[in-house]
Amino acid sequence: MNQPLEAFNMREPRIAYFSMEIALRSEIPTYSGGLGVLAGDAMRSASDLDLPMVGVTLVSRAGYFRQEIVDGRQLERPDIWQPEQWAQRLGAKISVQVGARELWVAAWLYEIHGQRGASVPVLLLDTDLPENEPEDRELTHHLYGGDEAYRMKQEMVLGIGGVRMLGALGFSIRKYHLNEGHAALLALELLRRFARSPQEAGTPELQFDVPAVRERCVFTTHTPVEAGHDKFSYELADRLLGPFIGAKELRQLAGQGELNMTRLALNLSECVNGVTPRHAEVSRKMFPGYQVHAITNGVHPWTWACDSLRRLFDAFLPRWSHEPELLARADLIPDEELRRAHAVAKLALLHRIQGRDGLSINTSLPVLGFARRMTPYKRADLLFFDIDRLRAIAREHPFQIVLAGKAHPRDLGGKQIIERLHAWARELGGAVPVHFLPNYDMETARLLVSGVDVWLNTPLSPLEASGTSGMKAALNGVPNLSVLDGWWLEGCIEGVTGWAVGGETVADEADVHARDAASLYLKLDQKVLPLYHESAAGWTAVMKGAIARNGAYFSSHRMMKQYAVEAYLH
Ligand SMILES: *Cc1c(COP(=O)(O)O)cnc(C)c1O
Repeated sequence: MNQPLEAFNMREPRIAYFSMEIALRSEIPTYSGGLGVLAGDAMRSASDLDLPMVGVTLVSRAGYFRQEIVDGRQLERPDIWQPEQWAQRLGAKISVQVGARELWVAAWLYEIHGQRGASVPVLLLDTDLPENEPEDRELTHHLYGGDEAYRMKQEMVLGIGGVRMLGALGFSIRKYHLNEGHAALLALELLRRFARSPQEAGTPELQFDVPAVRERCVFTTHTPVEAGHDKFSYELADRLLGPFIGAKELRQLAGQGELNMTRLALNLSECVNGVTPRHAEVSRKMFPGYQVHAITNGVHPWTWACDSLRRLFDAFLPRWSHEPELLARADLIPDEELRRAHAVAKLALLHRIQGRDGLSINTSLPVLGFARRMTPYKRADLLFFDIDRLRAIAREHPFQIVLAGKAHPRDLGGKQIIERLHAWARELGGAVPVHFLPNYDMETARLLVSGVDVWLNTPLSPLEASGTSGMKAALNGVPNLSVLDGWWLEGCIEGVTGWAVGGETVADEADVHARDAASLYLKLDQKVLPLYHESAAGWTAVMKGAIARNGAYFSSHRMMKQYAVEAYLH
């Protein structure tokens, strides 16, 4: 019945990786940002390393959204894609009871082909079926769209539907990896699966086997930002879940006041981890009483190295894409060759920008790049804290700026930042050319992280759990200038891999923004820009430091080997 799956060994027990978003490729808009890109990189490394895994996500037919900028404002358009163009329809259908209705769920198969011949299947769950009510058919259209009920139904499709679909297709699963709390309802489905019936248990009720579920679940939490932790009212949850599980049990597992998906995941997973050591520490404070380990994120080397760097690494560090550790020998690359490869990447980026906004581009000036989700804690506006200071620095050491990023349609603070960035760009005019590239996606990200000269990150510490775009930049020989938070606490060796913002001990806690901005300006003015303008050899040494120290370590190959040993094999 399920022809397309014949290529896979269905008897081999697999690790099922559940994620609300997975960035499979640039043409498939089933991701919104870092979480989805990480999931995609995890699956890509799993297929390169031939780890027995299967991905589970939603088909998100209308994507997250396509961003257009009109008069400095973000407009959101649906980003429709055709699953039949990239994936194969599978024959199985399962149903999930949602409130009073039975909701039918089908699946598409997307295959990730690894570099050494292995493949990993990814299931894209789809409710757009004739058997469903029109309203329910749209449940798997908009990633992170709709209201609270829409979102909870999506999570029922992902968690409960996903486990049932794996069963219907004949997969044998040894562990379930919950990539963020969105997938936590899968653990409820497992609770029911391992429950003993009243007859077996000799009690009037089902007997749940919590340890059996915990043994099978691995949970990765991804952010200390409150809004990143899904919570649903019990009024809604009880209505949608119905008699799926007793009200008392559910509250014991998911919190008393409201259904907290993070708490549910924490209570039903034996192995819990954060995405950097600092984030694990912050998470232990947020959730006292739980053991939270750290497995630092990484990026998929082949996916994120630009073409010219791939060729360079192939020539001087063969096998680098399978063993990224070999990048530690970046000193074997002649300086001149590295500079030439970077110049090719920079030209590709500048060509993309040229003519977009009427500002001219200049290949000899350094480019500072900043691109990420536009949301207040990421502080895209920190660089513009003091416009006169920025202008003065540029008079001394000229530079240009490239920006990109989407704000969630309901993140008004994030949208306001986009507007302000455009206003500052107009105000600065030619004094500091500022370009904003619309519709930040995988393809734009690859152009940016390889084509700029310095990668900036200025989050409000300690809210950046990891940050992975800086790892992509490092892999491409682009030094980071970043607030000491997330991965940069591990990645920064001052003057060797890039530079730290903040971290100086200052007594005045009152205005953290002013303090970080002052530190940022000082580093740009005294360290980063003078080195760029005055010493090609010194600059190239930092580029090599970024590749050798950070490109070599912050790979998703290393990350997945760590998950295999520290989480999956337990
Ligand atoms: C890598 C990536 C991200 C994540 O970047 P952060 O540094 O974690 O903010 C977000 N969006 C896209 C398109 C990416 O490629």
